[in-house]
Amino acid sequence: MGRVATKIKRRVEPGADDARPALLLDWYDRHRRRLPWRPPAGERADPYRVWLSEIMLQQTGVKTVGPYFEKFLARWPDVAALGRASLDDVLRMWAGLGYYSRARNLHACAVAVLRDHGGVFPETEEGLRKLPGIGPYTAAAIGAIAFDIRTMPVDGNIERVVSRLCAVEEPLPQAKPLIQELASTLLGPSRAGDEKSRAGDSAQALMDLGSSICTPKKPACALCPLNDDCAARLRGDQETFPRKAPKKAGTLRRGAAFVVTRGDELLVRTRADKGLLGGMTEVPGSDWLAGQDDKAALKQAPALTGVVRWHRKAGVVTHVFTHFPLELVVYTAKVAARTRAPQDMRWVPIATLAEEALPNVMRKAIAHGLGE
Ligand code: SF4
Repeated sequence: MGRVATKIKRRVEPGADDARPALLLDWYDRHRRRLPWRPPAGERADPYRVWLSEIMLQQTGVKTVGPYFEKFLARWPDVAALGRASLDDVLRMWAGLGYYSRARNLHACAVAVLRDHGGVFPETEEGLRKLPGIGPYTAAAIGAIAFDIRTMPVDGNIERVVSRLCAVEEPLPQAKPLIQELASTLLGPSRAGDEKSRAGDSAQALMDLGSSICTPKKPACALCPLNDDCAARLRGDQETFPRKAPKKAGTLRRGAAFVVTRGDELLVRTRADKGLLGGMTEVPGSDWLAGQDDKAALKQAPALTGVVRWHRKAGVVTHVFTHFPLELVVYTAKVAARTRAPQDMRWVPIATLAEEALPNVMRKAIAHGLGE
């Protein structure tokens, strides 16, 4: 028996017939959160809503996602409508949510569901995983929540609850397979002959427990339905879980952003489709490199007739991407009324910037550049 399996056996055996799954469902029936993408208790969830919310919730909190979810749903009420939308419109609507590859995949997935599945999501994890942007976690989440497939999607909340419940000493990310196995033991019992059961409710119960009770700091163990049987609580070191391998911070990259105004207009361009912030709008800028020096960055300023001198704004704009922190020096310039935009750039009214697909880092750079 492998190392992981031995550990699962050791942890699960004492409670193999334990009451945890039923306790969890009972708690969920009384305390489930009301969320815009959740149907009333007992009703089957709409796969489109589950999918849309799960993609939006990756790396983003419920509070931020709520208004975006409502906006998307009002504009594109089903996956077929989203599949017929233009990528530009989707990116524009997504602007501000960050991690823009999710928006591109969201659109590609809707197009694929419309084109290859007649606008209906496949009802198996395998079928779901073949769609753009749907990895094992999202497939399991849609499978469990929308189709009640007996599978457990493990997100950060569930990782925390399970690692505490079972005092998992292995650090993340190595502990993921073990946590996945342990989490699966918390799925609600199948009724005889019913493979589907209430898997979606079990998963959502754990998600809710992690976000409202088993929080990263100061978990409210007194209110937890699983507190009698929680290994970390019994030891008193709940907050130290999940264990994490030390994080390697990415190397700081530096660059320049050029905020150029022509009266009430701003000079912008569109980033290449592929790569970081692909397809998004930005002000012209230099490469973002580790050890980039200011002179080299300034040499990449856009060639504009009439700009004799760039004004360097005091301070820098900082932004942290998943893999690296970024520091941008911001230069500003004002040009005459009829100055033409350089190739592949365009002028947009500052008043309509909110409609542009501007990532947060660019919003910060523009605010810094236009500020007094
Ligand atoms: S008892 Fe406390 S630490 Fe254990 S699962 Fe419940 S809230 Fe989390």
